[in-house]
Amino acid sequence: MKADSIRLPRPLNLIDGAWVAAASGREMDVRSPIDGEVFTRIADSGPEDVDAAVAAARAAFDGGPWSKLTAAERGRLMLRLGNRILEEAEELARLETMDNGKPIKQARADMIATARYFEYYGGGADKVHGEVIPFLSGYHAEVRREPHGVTGHIIPWNYPAQMFGRSIAPALAMGNATVLKPAEDACLSALRIGELATEVGFPAGAINIVTGRGEVAGKALSEHPGVDFMSFTGSPEVGVMIQVAAAKNFIGCTLELGGKSPQIVFDDADLEAVYPVLVNAIIQNGGQTCSAGSRVLIQRGVYDKVMDELKARFEAVTASDSGEDAVLGPLISARQKKRVETYIAEADAPLVARGSIAQGSPEGGYYVAAALFGPCEPDSKIAQEEVFGPVLCAIPFDDEADAIRIANGTDYGLVAGIWTSNGGRQQRMAKAMHCGQVFINGYGAGGGIELPFGGIRKSGHGREKGFAALHEFSRIKTVVNNHG
Ligand code: NAD
Repeated sequence: MKADSIRLPRPLNLIDGAWVAAASGREMDVRSPIDGEVFTRIADSGPEDVDAAVAAARAAFDGGPWSKLTAAERGRLMLRLGNRILEEAEELARLETMDNGKPIKQARADMIATARYFEYYGGGADKVHGEVIPFLSGYHAEVRREPHGVTGHIIPWNYPAQMFGRSIAPALAMGNATVLKPAEDACLSALRIGELATEVGFPAGAINIVTGRGEVAGKALSEHPGVDFMSFTGSPEVGVMIQVAAAKNFIGCTLELGGKSPQIVFDDADLEAVYPVLVNAIIQNGGQTCSAGSRVLIQRGVYDKVMDELKARFEAVTASDSGEDAVLGPLISARQKKRVETYIAEADAPLVARGSIAQGSPEGGYYVAAALFGPCEPDSKIAQEEVFGPVLCAIPFDDEADAIRIANGTDYGLVAGIWTSNGGRQQRMAKAMHCGQVFINGYGAGGGIELPFGGIRKSGHGREKGFAALHEFSRIKTVVNNHG
């Protein structure tokens, strides 16, 4: 894939409807994970750029044209943006692959999903109603759902376009004005979608995009006193800082911080259906998915059989340069490659299988061969920590109680998959899982815009996706009228 065949966004921020350079004039290099080469630049923004973006959002929210739109009009704009994303999907997908390294097929699927966020929440904009509460005689009591005001959004690099949609679409639907800080490692699709938003007629200040480093621009946004609500997706370490900053400003926040999600395979499962899903749930997007199925718990009676099959499948996985046939592309950065390779080299469990890297893959690209470990002790480092790479840990278990103990035995709690043909067990296991989403006889890493999604404990709190996100991005006001 050649950079000159793709239209690249300019190194500018979107503030108050205009494309502007960072006030300092600073820019930073962008490298493609496919070959490690610098192919463009982005604005390296500072606190003053964040100030300008928050002020623009405030003006849009407090009396600006954005605040005057009806919910239906907001929804219509969002539907238009969804359509434009679909029209530009191929070019956007190519941009995403160059910027993030993901296989082109994955990037195409991501663009459909990104458009869906604007369709789904555009359709929902005028469907969040208040309530009337039966109260004292002579009183009318109602509950209204109102936008927070200015919402801040800090998103990661793993699904840049999808995260853009997932984070800001529900906020816009509820009438908030938004300031987004995309990840410095992959933010070009967000900038391109920002251009499309301007083109379809979003009023100035409704969507502001400020690029730059997390510890500078991200920090400034998370600590900004002009922000009324923060939405963050990324690492637990930064999530803690976001929550502390939100606490100091007395505002709410949602945190989506990843996981160590288990897929639990009982001996009565349809194993042929299980195998491809187990592999895909950790290979998809290079394992850089918050809800990746990174642990597989296998009932002891079928452990050897399942592992024989997984070994063969992992050995057949080839990392390659993200072209039409690629299933596993490079990881996002040299830093992430090193992190994942260190986990593999230092793993405290037997290595069962390793995939390969395609001959002729560009030298400087961030390729890592898939790895399968097992049997892993449930408390081992490799089975406890989020690797965020194509690394699967297998853990044998004896019975339901054992499976529940191991599945719930990490600091995380995002998603769980349960594979069994026993109906009662399906219900018992779903109830016992400490996490935000459970799949039974299936697994959707990252899937389902309609499905409320989020974690507990180190996986974060708050819910995105589904109508739950519309509730997160709004607040309740109770109005009591003594009419006599
Ligand atoms: P990160 O948390 O540093 O980055 C996520 C976002 O936060 C980026 O936009 C970044 O610019 C911003 N950020 C960084 N420091 C900040 C600060 N001090 N204040 C405000 N914003 C800040 O994640 P990373 O370093 O890119 O990845 C490290 C690990 O985090 C990964 O290996 C993985 O385990 C995890 N991760 C999880 C997800 C997820 O989807 N849950 C996404 C990305 C990374």
